[in-house]
Amino acid sequence: MEEVIKNLKVMYTEEQIQERIKELAKEIDNDYIGKELIIISVLKGAIFFTVDLVKRINIPMSIEMMQVSSYQGTQSTGNVILKRGLDIDISGKDVLIVEDIIDTGYTLQYLKEYLQTLNPNSLKIAVLADKKERRKIDVKIDYTGFEIENKFIVGYGFDIDQKYRNLPYIGYIEE
Ligand code: 5GP
Repeated sequence: MEEVIKNLKVMYTEEQIQERIKELAKEIDNDYIGKELIIISVLKGAIFFTVDLVKRINIPMSIEMMQVSSYQGTQSTGNVILKRGLDIDISGKDVLIVEDIIDTGYTLQYLKEYLQTLNPNSLKIAVLADKKERRKIDVKIDYTGFEIENKFIVGYGFDIDQKYRNLPYIGYIEE
């Protein structure tokens, strides 16, 4: 672990992250004028992004959590498992999924398909980071914080085996 952290470089500083989140919140406020939003935060990685984003959103909204698991070590797999579902009814509601990152797309495709079966009025997706070049399935993303290169990122919610999520910036591991 010590070795990994030694090779960690800053990709986005705390300030850069907050600035971008402010812009995203403004966009969301504009798109949902006169509406009420249910934000579904995908545990655990998206907690940090969700908290900072919702603090900047002014329209009426509530927060729910879901948890899926699809990732072992540093490789995505197509196997997505629902670990924690919703305990509210979202039918007829405007729903925004807030996720930390889209990589292959398997996780968000699974979540989107699952939530669509619950008949929301609308369903959109916000991600903090997008590794576009890694995509295996085409999933429409409505709000993107940063388009990033194919680097493994750590901090601000992004973990290595559950650790380092608490770093205040987004770092990447230099190979
Ligand atoms: P996907 O299903 O789109 O391939 O992967 C989504 C999940 O992979 C994310 O929720 C995240 O947990 C994990 N992931 C993908 N890229 C990274 C990365 O660079 N760093 C970390 N820590 N997790 C990642």
